[in-house]
Amino acid sequence: MLEVKNLCVTVDKKPIVRHFTLQVRPGEIHAIMGPNGAGKSTLAKVLAGHPAYEVTDGSITLNGNNLLEMDPEERAHAGLFMSFQYPVEIPGVNTAEFLRVALNANRKAKGLPELPPKEFNTLLEEKMALMEIKPEFRNRNVNEGYSGGEKKRNEILQMAVLEPQLAILDETDSGLDIDAMKIVARGVNRLMSKDKALIVITHYQRLLDYIKPHFIHVMINGKIVLSGGAELAIELETKGYDWLEKEPDASTD
Ligand code: ADP
Ligand code: MG
Repeated sequence: MLEVKNLCVTVDKKPIVRHFTLQVRPGEIHAIMGPNGAGKSTLAKVLAGHPAYEVTDGSITLNGNNLLEMDPEERAHAGLFMSFQYPVEIPGVNTAEFLRVALNANRKAKGLPELPPKEFNTLLEEKMALMEIKPEFRNRNVNEGYSGGEKKRNEILQMAVLEPQLAILDETDSGLDIDAMKIVARGVNRLMSKDKALIVITHYQRLLDYIKPHFIHVMINGKIVLSGGAELAIELETKGYDWLEKEPDASTD
């Protein structure tokens, strides 16, 4: 589904992602872990199409299509979704309206008719209940004045409404208490299926107790230095990342 090959990304000429390679097949959950500053969020933003980052080498395809030639909205229409590590507040934009317009834009791109307001409301109520978000939030502006945990839950509400084929969750667990994390994990797990895939970025093992990855990759200095199964998270929890940073492979290009 997703094929990232030898990806190199710079910001202001500084290399951030270096020769990053990853393959994600339908039905798979991949976790990307690593210390602060490893380039995890940069990778996520490049996948979503953030314009501040320059791809200097490598390729990314989604279902065989060249992702790098697509605008962010085209990527979203193709089934890609990203949840931000730091969700932005959008004053003046009503949450329900935002979700309705986003969903209908996606449907239009797929050649489907718009969802009538009544049906959309039913859908939104159902998804908000799943995420245990109080009904009054539908009338608030997107993320405006939300607590950190509410913003993260709102990100997953967007995912629940849009039902993307490939979701990238960037540190969705940070700032969440254990109850909120369970709600987020339940919402995410409910949306997974054999034709969907997930990339979970985190630097704690905690979330991976609730969202079980098939693969864990450790990213250091812009590249994957180690991959393994779910058990790797436990090893990292006890050993940290230092021992991997000392690997010669982690410091060379
Ligand atoms: P992680 O998510 O793994 O903690 P990031 O991808 O956020 O890491 O950042 C990796 C490195 O790239 C950091 O050193 C960060 O300061 C730098 N970086 C990321 N975005 C920018 C930017 N827009 N301008 C300058 N430096 C950036
Ligand atoms: Mg980050």
